[in-house]
Amino acid sequence: MTAVTVNGRSYQMPQRPTVVVCIDGADPEYFTDGLARGILPALQRFREHGVYATAQAMIPSFTNPNNLSIVTGAPPAVHGISGNFFLDPETGNEVMMNEPRFLRAESILAALSRENARVTIITAKDKLRRLLGHGVEHGMCFSAEKAHEVTRAEHGIDQVNDLVGWETPEVYSSELSAFVMEAGLRLYEQQRPDVMYLSLTDYIQHKHAPGTPEADAFYRMLDQYFSAFDERGAVVALTADHGMRDKNDAIGRPCIVYLRTLLDDWLGVGTTRVILPITDPYVVHHGALGSFATIYVTPEVDVSQVGARLRDVPGIEYVGTRTEASQRFALPADRIGDMVVISDHTTVLGKAPEDHDLSLLEGGLRSHGGLGEQMVPFVLNMPVHEAYRQRLNVNLCNADIFDFALNGVALA
Ligand code: ZN
Ligand code: ZN
Repeated sequence: MTAVTVNGRSYQMPQRPTVVVCIDGADPEYFTDGLARGILPALQRFREHGVYATAQAMIPSFTNPNNLSIVTGAPPAVHGISGNFFLDPETGNEVMMNEPRFLRAESILAALSRENARVTIITAKDKLRRLLGHGVEHGMCFSAEKAHEVTRAEHGIDQVNDLVGWETPEVYSSELSAFVMEAGLRLYEQQRPDVMYLSLTDYIQHKHAPGTPEADAFYRMLDQYFSAFDERGAVVALTADHGMRDKNDAIGRPCIVYLRTLLDDWLGVGTTRVILPITDPYVVHHGALGSFATIYVTPEVDVSQVGARLRDVPGIEYVGTRTEASQRFALPADRIGDMVVISDHTTVLGKAPEDHDLSLLEGGLRSHGGLGEQMVPFVLNMPVHEAYRQRLNVNLCNADIFDFALNGVALA
């Protein structure tokens, strides 16, 4: 077998070790800014000799939907993961979308592993681990967050802390991502897996804008790892699940539209249910405030009338019905509400003031979820075939990264 077909696309078996990194929340501005100041030498080399482009992330520009799009090569309508969090229509409960039972498509990683490619997946946060590792045979899949808990039976590896030589880092730290890169490099040197997928955390990007000392230190660290993989002969492919934007007003207070407060006021308490799919256990990042929301309404509510009113609210960029939004953004219609609301690049959406602890957002809010955070880097350390080069400017998305890394690279 020289290729596998996954979700309608064909992927060649890896010709040489391939390392795909999802730099969570890596707005292209971090790269542009770092390159302009000459602090990212590996990236500079990739730009000169390989591919340096931007691509679109899936909407909602959140972590789980986009990580799954990257590893399946398909939009949320195909893989089924519409957010980090959703209203399960079967139970009526609001739940995390962390479980493989929510997945509707196979991943490229699973398909390659079935053909005996050796696959290693390392994530920063444990919330993604089971989704990313689903269907992967005789490979490894573990998170930095729970590195100390790994077992050979469940994760395909044990003693990760000994391997890396580090304790398990704090979850709210840049070290969590560094741990992923270090573990990846050690395993690369020891075992040369055919394919690695390394998925980081956006803690730094939520807290530190491009050009700040913390962001510089983080990207310099990553650049050294990119260089290390490059020097060891890997195909290195970099993208992100979403960008990141400042969401504060002129005096540094978060710009928030509280949807439930508005809707309760317009329609009466209890007629609507607002779901914020950014919600996850890592609230220090964002206080559950992002730029995408879905709304469930009771049958008597006139969706088009509410939509028209919401469109007039300052800071709201898009309002669509379930049908419109699922078509426009390739979302699974049964996993979004009756309406989808997206706020603009400076604004986030909340439920009501009492639902969000703004004291967690010391230093202001940087977040994502909307169209303003849709651009992401798309970088490879090696040149690609002409047919691929031509695709760089045409509807390129982060879900194309495995196609480029496995099929597009022009190996010498
Ligand atoms: Zn993310
Ligand atoms: Zn985030």
